[in-house]
Amino acid sequence: MDQSIDTRCVQAGYTPGNGEPRQVPIIQSTTFKYDSSDAMGALFDLEAEGYFYSRLQNPTCDHVAAKIADLEGGTAAVLTGSGMAATFLAVFNICEAGGHIVSSSTVYGGTFNLFAHTMRKMGVEVTFVSPTCTEEELDAAFRPNTKCVFGETIANPALTVLDIEKFAAAAHRHGVPLIVDNTFATPVNCRPFEWGADIVTHSTTKYMDGHGGALGGAIVDSGNFDWMDHAEKFPGLTTPDESYHGIVYAERFGQGGAYTTKIVSQLIRDLGPVQSPQNAYYLNLGLESLHVRVPRHCENALAVAKFLSTSSKIDSVCYPSLPGDASYELAQKYLPQGSCGVVSFEVAGGRSAAVRFMEALKVASIETHVADARTCCLHPASSTHRQMTDEELLAAGIGPSMVRLSCGLEGTEDLVADVAQALELV
Ligand SMILES: *Cc1c(COP(=O)(O)O)cnc(C)c1O
Repeated sequence: MDQSIDTRCVQAGYTPGNGEPRQVPIIQSTTFKYDSSDAMGALFDLEAEGYFYSRLQNPTCDHVAAKIADLEGGTAAVLTGSGMAATFLAVFNICEAGGHIVSSSTVYGGTFNLFAHTMRKMGVEVTFVSPTCTEEELDAAFRPNTKCVFGETIANPALTVLDIEKFAAAAHRHGVPLIVDNTFATPVNCRPFEWGADIVTHSTTKYMDGHGGALGGAIVDSGNFDWMDHAEKFPGLTTPDESYHGIVYAERFGQGGAYTTKIVSQLIRDLGPVQSPQNAYYLNLGLESLHVRVPRHCENALAVAKFLSTSSKIDSVCYPSLPGDASYELAQKYLPQGSCGVVSFEVAGGRSAAVRFMEALKVASIETHVADARTCCLHPASSTHRQMTDEELLAAGIGPSMVRLSCGLEGTEDLVADVAQALELV
């Protein structure tokens, strides 16, 4: 941890021995061979460390997870097949039927669906709170059965910045952890554990992979939340797991390992949403340049946001690092080096003007994606968020003419010129 994040992006998580491959090897094997049943039995009992089946653990995935844990400053991490799998497992690991979540209302559309609809069918209730709510409003959202608080460092697509300290303090007052989705900020720009968050999730599909190549997710534990201190709230971690011959995760694996061990040995075992070794390898290639790419994404986005803010054809611009933005103060505090590559804005003339603008772009293409090397744009109200009612859209910070532009790594002047020519045509 005393090395810079730049060095750790390149090298953390894998240190080859003498004569071993320099690059993380892709262990494309579902299973692993043992000399005796007893040797394998010890692995099943979680008494020895090792590999036996890639639905549980795989060496390639473990190296890359270790890098992400290092970058976030956590004690352990798990890779998942997608960001949605990471979000679901991070919450469901501590919040089952009969439980309740407090979530920021400005979250990713998929996360909103997961909490508001799918997890409700599983018996979990959610209360959404505005990210700008007062401490009193936040306190009022908690119930005796609340198990965690959830928010996004920079919300996709609303681009509000979470007041991590405020949300962490509220969570801890009520004896539960704060889970932060750090996808947009990445650990290069913000490490939520430094501000009191307990668990971090990622859609590694975005900046971490960075090239639109491989779906994936990650869950990182800070090791800071004391499950035993709140044992009655988290029986899954503090009482014997019958499906694992009576292991008590918090006792056996301690504060730094209990949460992620339970995710792997119970939830991923039973539900199966693993990341493939091949995808983990691609993810690691992305991570090796994360510290170089993220500042460039931010530089491009700030230039585009500044240009848009001077255009008469734009009703409003949202970019946390743009002076005057509603989240500017929070961004200065939590994201002093830059926020992300995504800018959202409302084109004057409503929904049809927004659509015309997008179709006139030449460098940027229309895609359901963000945080990619290639600039892309999307109209959330008619795509990712189209299942939401107008009221839900408003609470999520999304207007009908809002365009979300994800600035890639192309030349800054080319991106600004592209936006300018498209606005001319509106
Ligand atoms: C994309 C995204 C997700 C979901 O990730 P997938 O990899 O697409 O499953 C979750 N949170 C945020 C903030 C995202 O941008």
